[in-house]
Amino acid sequence: MRQVIAAALLFALSCAAYGDELVVYSERQEPLIKPIFDTFTRETGVQVRYLTDAAPVLIERLAAEGEATRADLFMAVDAGNLWRAAERGLLASTHSPVLDAQIPANLRDPDGQWVSLSLRARTIVYSTERVKPADLSTYEALAEPQWKGRLCLRSSKKVYNQSLAATMIARLGAEKTEAVLRGWVANLAAPPFADDTQLINAVSAGQCDVGLVNTYYLGRLLKADPALPVTVFWPNQQDAGVHVNVSGAGITKYSKHKAQAQKLLEWLASDEAQDEFARLNFEFPAKPGIALDPIVAAWGTFKADPVNVAEAGRRQAEAVRLMDRAGWE
Ligand code: FE
Repeated sequence: MRQVIAAALLFALSCAAYGDELVVYSERQEPLIKPIFDTFTRETGVQVRYLTDAAPVLIERLAAEGEATRADLFMAVDAGNLWRAAERGLLASTHSPVLDAQIPANLRDPDGQWVSLSLRARTIVYSTERVKPADLSTYEALAEPQWKGRLCLRSSKKVYNQSLAATMIARLGAEKTEAVLRGWVANLAAPPFADDTQLINAVSAGQCDVGLVNTYYLGRLLKADPALPVTVFWPNQQDAGVHVNVSGAGITKYSKHKAQAQKLLEWLASDEAQDEFARLNFEFPAKPGIALDPIVAAWGTFKADPVNVAEAGRRQAEAVRLMDRAGWE
């Protein structure tokens, strides 16, 4: 079935006029990109077509298509996936003074193969009914016995957790990280969840008291129910800071419209697009100085881990082995 859909989409893509349009392979979901691309088309006249799927699927597809690909831009929602696409030689190096000026250096690939477009804090959420913020301090402290039977985690299969563990290895070393992960697993109140939304609902319902999630999932739930008894805690404010992942994009190596693709990428980093791009999903704009959604702003400011997000990709395989050994399913 998937192949049939893929073939139909490919047919639709190849029937389209060539030259005055761009094709994006996007891990970011349609509701979060369509309004942005529509604005770009209104302003520039350039059509944007897109194909959405999981990043590993899109990466394999780009690799299989090689020079024949119609894709001009690859968009992913995790630094690890951006890094992997670059490692596989699927992205082109772009040197853009516009992007350099708009997006901080630690949020860009050092070789210019991709750039972050929004930030996603993976942080602690807690029950406002059963936990006091004074009980919380760091990611590592969630491994301590006081959290026994009170912690919820998402599956270790999710790249968000792999990137979190990867940056912990960069920060703490493998041995210390493994000890922390073992402590987390020992404290679990329930088997790891399939997604962050289920996890937040479990905290709200009393199944667990604390958990680790990307904040935009809480933003979506609070938009629907402002009384939800769950809020955000910013850990490690005395040391490394909060783990921040990114969504971002890079121009494909075999794009036939590299100049136009660069224009789209630069436009995505503009004030107008940054505002919409981040707000549509309660994320943090990658460009400094853009206003936050009020729900996000209410969580207050925080110190973010300044590690270059490419580090998450570099250490991801090691992180997966470590999570396995720690028994994190
Ligand atoms: Fe997500």
